[in-house]
Amino acid sequence: MKILAIETSCDDTGVAILERKSGKFKVLSNIVSSQTIHQNYGGVFPMMAKREHQVNLVPVLIRVLKQAKLANPKPETRNPKPETNSKFKIINSILEREPELLKQLLPFLEKYEKPDIDAIAVTNGPGLEPCLWIGVNFARALSFYWNIPIIPVNHIEGHILVSFLNPKLYTLNPKRAFPAMCLVVSGGHTQLVLMKKIGDYKIIGETRDDAAGECFDKCAKILGLGYPGGPIIAKIADDFKLKEKLTKVSKLGDSKLEIQNLSLPRPMLNSKDYDFSFSGLKTAVLYAVRDKKQDTITKKYVSKMCVEVQQSIIDVLLKKTLQAAKDYKVKTIILGGGVSANKELRKQFTLKTSPISKSFQKEKIAVKENTKDKKEEVAVCYKTDGRQNRSINVVFPDPKFSTDNGLMIAVAAYFNRKPFGKLKARKKASWKNLEANANLRVGE
Ligand code: ADP
Ligand code: MG
Repeated sequence: MKILAIETSCDDTGVAILERKSGKFKVLSNIVSSQTIHQNYGGVFPMMAKREHQVNLVPVLIRVLKQAKLANPKPETRNPKPETNSKFKIINSILEREPELLKQLLPFLEKYEKPDIDAIAVTNGPGLEPCLWIGVNFARALSFYWNIPIIPVNHIEGHILVSFLNPKLYTLNPKRAFPAMCLVVSGGHTQLVLMKKIGDYKIIGETRDDAAGECFDKCAKILGLGYPGGPIIAKIADDFKLKEKLTKVSKLGDSKLEIQNLSLPRPMLNSKDYDFSFSGLKTAVLYAVRDKKQDTITKKYVSKMCVEVQQSIIDVLLKKTLQAAKDYKVKTIILGGGVSANKELRKQFTLKTSPISKSFQKEKIAVKENTKDKKEEVAVCYKTDGRQNRSINVVFPDPKFSTDNGLMIAVAAYFNRKPFGKLKARKKASWKNLEANANLRVGE
């Protein structure tokens, strides 16, 4: 089966086509158009993002269909049938509030044949409401016009399930893989989700204020760095540590960061629950910078600050996740979301879950992309090596699938093509009734 997936929950316009054939996934195309407009503001403006999605969606869809070799133009001479025009009336009503999208969609539908697609997946929440509606209404219009079923997908479930592109992980005996503890860390979310199996989720902890990615972004803004802040802070921190040979990594365990007079708080590190709070960390950075004379805010100071911001966030995420993993006796930890691309976070999670031996087996699973005919690493799974008595596997998505993309929505839709457990309601979704829900919660 082939799934066309659409993701517009925040500031990335993502469209992908995923094929499942003979028990294997094949990524036919996955294109993300990241909106650069927000870089000037250090954060995402929903109404601006909404406009950008309207402008981006049709061109990105055409590129995706072409890459997947599913774009078939209709013969030039054929005039639109009257039946087509009556269908356009309904498309007009579906996209009544998205005039710029409508303007591009009608000529596209006139020009191209219905593609060989079995389902249309779309993120229907959580996310920024105006942005979610663009994707949902676009998917509804395509679903109606081409008469293809629609599968709504929870964005958080997408971040979790994208790691299941890794065939080894999916075929793992559920008795060995589950229960799993999922840490979803992005610009909009920081959640710990207990996963008993695919489709069975329970949020056991989450941020009370800012998300971890949001904290990276806000700290970067205070330090006069660009947007999005996570990758910039990570780069400066990693380069500085390498240069200064700061190899001792964590304040939590055996060692201390060798950075004097620059200690930031680890909010809620010792609280007895699984919740997080990151706004205090941002405020601490704000006060530290505000109280410093301008000429003492040197490049070195900013670099040290980046190391400390990154480490504070990692310390809290690591401790809470490991505690939750222990308390719920899970067998696997699954990370997802933009912040899970962070190299230092990956390194420290891996080291902390393999305390006996620091040598571990790194298993790379390749999926062939039909476009470039080159092997592409889609998920990296750090496995225990049998002889050691280590029982928790940590699974990360490939860094390029950590941030928002259409592919993760396609993977989640594949697993949701038939209703699982509590999520039976999905089956009834159609272009007639699908709605966006900014506050959708995974597992509810
Ligand atoms: P959202 O769902 O909120 O749009 P994404 O899943 O796309 O978020 O992730 C975007 C967030 O991830 C941003 O806050 C960004 O700063 C953060 N991020 C991306 N790469 C890294 C990295 N290497 N280290 C830390 N944070 C990162
Ligand atoms: Mg996200």
